[in-house]
Amino acid sequence: MIHLAFLLALVHVDVLISAGHEGRPASCARYPKRACNLGAQGEREWTPIVADEATRVLREQGVSVAREPADFDGNYDVDAAVFIHFDGSTSPCASSASIGYHEQRFAPAAQQWRTLYSRYFPFGFQPDDFTVGLRDYYAFRQVDARSGSLVLELGELTCPQQRAWLAPRLTFEGDLIAYFLSRLIGKGDVPLPSANIANHASTAFSIGRARRVARSHSTVRSRVRN
Ligand SMILES: [Zn+2]
Repeated sequence: MIHLAFLLALVHVDVLISAGHEGRPASCARYPKRACNLGAQGEREWTPIVADEATRVLREQGVSVAREPADFDGNYDVDAAVFIHFDGSTSPCASSASIGYHEQRFAPAAQQWRTLYSRYFPFGFQPDDFTVGLRDYYAFRQVDARSGSLVLELGELTCPQQRAWLAPRLTFEGDLIAYFLSRLIGKGDVPLPSANIANHASTAFSIGRARRVARSHSTVRSRVRN
């Protein structure tokens, strides 16, 4: 039986988009049991840019979006939710992009994102749920999702090559996430964004070099998240 208070607090939107670490440390005092993870250096500045762009594009297409910071109240009934992050590693370039989800039924949605993002992001993916923080992300419990509730780590900020690739593409990342979500929930007609910057000749050279650098690094790493 579902508790009445839960029903009253349940808000329906098509999509929830949360910007990782946004609003911290100010919001941490309201959630004393939660670790006040501030993310990798620069992550708090970047995740809202990506989240705002994805939200803007989806709303233009008539998709309702709850745009949330890292910490928020209430519970949501959604078609899909994404929690946007960038990774950090104590051993630079030991990580890359990754996806987290708590329910195995969201594995197909994760695979769709991996397939899409891999067409652009040249540094590869870690295995899904490769950390406990990805599998048991604190905000998953505030979302009841039909098609997917995913942490999307868009790359490793502590890796200079990945950071350099990501820096001019934050708007593109938001557009790509909007496209992904629109397809995933079957609502809106978000176009596949132009990846002109990724196809630029001089960038193509550095991407090839970055791939080799990424492959040459070890996979030893550690991280705290919550
Ligand atoms: Zn993060």
